[in-house]
Amino acid sequence: MAIEILTPTQIDEMRPAGRFVAEVLTATAAAADVGVNLLELDALAHRMIRDRGAESCYIDYHPSFGAMPFGKVICTSVNDGVLHGLPHDYRLKDGDLLSLDFACSVDGWVCDSAVSVVVGTPRQEDLTLIDVTTEALEAGIAAARGGNKTGDVSHAIGEVARAHGLRVNTQFGGHGVGRTMHGDPHIANDGRPGRGFPLKPGLVIAIEPWFLHSTDEIVMDPDGWTIRSADGSRGAHVEHTVAITDGEPIVMTDRSGL
Ligand code: MG
Repeated sequence: MAIEILTPTQIDEMRPAGRFVAEVLTATAAAADVGVNLLELDALAHRMIRDRGAESCYIDYHPSFGAMPFGKVICTSVNDGVLHGLPHDYRLKDGDLLSLDFACSVDGWVCDSAVSVVVGTPRQEDLTLIDVTTEALEAGIAAARGGNKTGDVSHAIGEVARAHGLRVNTQFGGHGVGRTMHGDPHIANDGRPGRGFPLKPGLVIAIEPWFLHSTDEIVMDPDGWTIRSADGSRGAHVEHTVAITDGEPIVMTDRSGL
């Protein structure tokens, strides 16, 4: 995989992709309610993609570990499912913890973002897990500055997890984003400050902490995609696409104000 460094003009060209990804996550999260089927959330995201003339990054996605192409346009991970949840015939139940992960291409530029929500009546421990994961994302974004390295972002995320007694799995993490969904550099959710790849202005990265209540071990679901906690405890996953600049990082997939 290659590292893409964008010009300020190209970062501006990427903004519609970020806004659209934010719109889809806002709409699907709002639609997620008790009794709603995961396939309906996928259909909603698919309609929005068609109406926008965007291109899904997921539907034809077929990495070496996948048994077949993903076939859907959004990841829906429920409860002990935390990453890459393949939408299937399941109606959300009261208190379910749902993580939505969505990436697509608009005008040739990709943005990638995720959000976790609770459907119906929340358990306090689930709200806390989402809050901590969000705090880790914010800490990672704050460290995503020109002159820093990927290890600074990783370390900032890991510190938040440790402060709350959570263990961090570093198998899946953030990545470069540009013309394609997954570029270099890899950004683990824990690491050593001052190490790794330099964050140059023009580098665009997806930062995506995900934590589990009581383990850092994962198992693959029989569907070949959905990644679950090994001990059945619930997980949360949040993500933004962030552009490195000379100054403040730009959160391309910001949902505030939508
Ligand atoms: Mg994502």
